[in-house]
This record gives sequence, structure tokens and C-alpha cells, in this order.
Amino acid sequence: MKKGDILLICAVLILAGAGLIFMNLGGKKSGGTLTVTVRGEIYETYDLAKDQEISLEIDGWHNRFRIKDGVVSMMEADCPDQYCVEHAPIAKVNETIVCLPHKVVLEITEGEEPRDVDA
Ligand SMILES: [Zn+2]
Repeated sequence: MKKGDILLICAVLILAGAGLIFMNLGGKKSGGTLTVTVRGEIYETYDLAKDQEISLEIDGWHNRFRIKDGVVSMMEADCPDQYCVEHAPIAKVNETIVCLPHKVVLEITEGEEPRDVDA
């Protein structure tokens, strides 16, 4: 084996390692789960990797939000203030969209299943 070959292998390994680190950072940044809380209780969680539109219909009011490309936005709501609809879309962990009149909170969380956590 020539010295040049060893250098090449090292370079490839370093690049591969850097790629893995970059991917991990990217994954952490974008988050994995949308947690929907209604009146202080967890209503449902959704996978951010899956594009979908969800309608909440509770006690005669509704909120409709969308997950697309890991970005969550409130599409429609019949609340009086409309702050949640005007809120900028969220995509990062700990970002939230709150609908105060309906006591609805959309929050992006890390998305780790409880079973994956080492006890
Ligand atoms: Zn609202």
C-alpha cells in the first residue's frame, strides 16, 4: 500500500464522519414530532416526516393545521383573534404555535419514543 492510498482512505473516512455529524445535527435541529396539547393535556403527536393535514374539532370549534416538509403551519381556525393563523410556520425543536382562545398548543419536540431512552 502506498502512502497516497492511506491518505486517500483517511480523507474518505474523515468526510464520512463529518457527513454523519452533519446529519445528526440536522436531525436534531429540525425535530421529529409535533405534539398537540389541548387544555393542558396531550391530545396527539404527529410524525413531522409525514406530510399531512389535521383538523381538530372540539366542542364546536376547529383548528386546521398542516405538516409539510417538516414545517408546521396553522391553516385555519375559527378563534376570534386569529393569532395562531397569522403565526409564522414552525420547524425547530421547542418552537410553538399557540391558539389562546382554544387553549391549543402545537409544539415541536425531539420525537424520541420513550422506549428508546436508556433507563
Ligand atoms: Zn387561534
